[in-house]
Amino acid sequence: MKLIVLGNNGSFPGRDSACSGYLIQDGTTNILIDCGNGVISRAQRYCKIEDLEAIVLSHLHRDHTSDMFVLRYAVETKFYFKTMDKPITVYAPSTPEEERRGLEYNNVYNLTTIYDTMEVNIKGLSCKFFMMNHPVETYGLRIEKDGKVLSYTADTIVNDNLKKLAANADLFLSESTATEKVLSTSNIPHLSAKQAAEVAKLANVKKLLLTHFWYEEERSNYLKEASTVFPEVLLAEEFKEYEV
Ligand SMILES: [Zn+2]
Ligand SMILES: [Zn+2]
Repeated sequence: MKLIVLGNNGSFPGRDSACSGYLIQDGTTNILIDCGNGVISRAQRYCKIEDLEAIVLSHLHRDHTSDMFVLRYAVETKFYFKTMDKPITVYAPSTPEEERRGLEYNNVYNLTTIYDTMEVNIKGLSCKFFMMNHPVETYGLRIEKDGKVLSYTADTIVNDNLKKLAANADLFLSESTATEKVLSTSNIPHLSAKQAAEVAKLANVKKLLLTHFWYEEERSNYLKEASTVFPEVLLAEEFKEYEV
């Protein structure tokens, strides 16, 4: 399988950028993980909307969901013109309720509720969810196929499930919104690059891919900080493909 980074900005999109969105491609199967602003436009470089097998929403913060609210018009229109005949399968947490209700629109999405330890098989890709620690209900996702593992933290602070989520992963996609300097003066509900690297080391992953960057932070600072703990680290680049 491969991972294509569609958007890597945390909280809001910087100039010419997009918020969280990651396309998993395995043969003809396309799974979109998170759907922040800018993501649907970019996803169509790689697949048609009607060819999305499923969308997984790690949590219902708008920087991970906002394009779901324009995608629903796309699906509705395609229903009308009969170029699509079934809803898109969407995995999402049940809360916050008002955010979840926004996804229940004219049956364009076939919603399945995520819970901790839930396991689903999507076209041969085994997906397991792990509860994270963030101000809203949030799940990390571990995808396995043919002995290869991709783990994604979503948004979180350090918690016990991170090690299980990331254990021996070939590619560990971790948020690193902050640097240690930022964390020392604030209590934002996110990981620093150093904390992500500490998890990578503890969980014995092969490669760490940092993402969910704060637009105004110098990117090289994330890399510098993580490299002091874990050498196999890269910064997620938009439109770049990563083989797992
Ligand atoms: Zn976020
Ligand atoms: Zn969040």
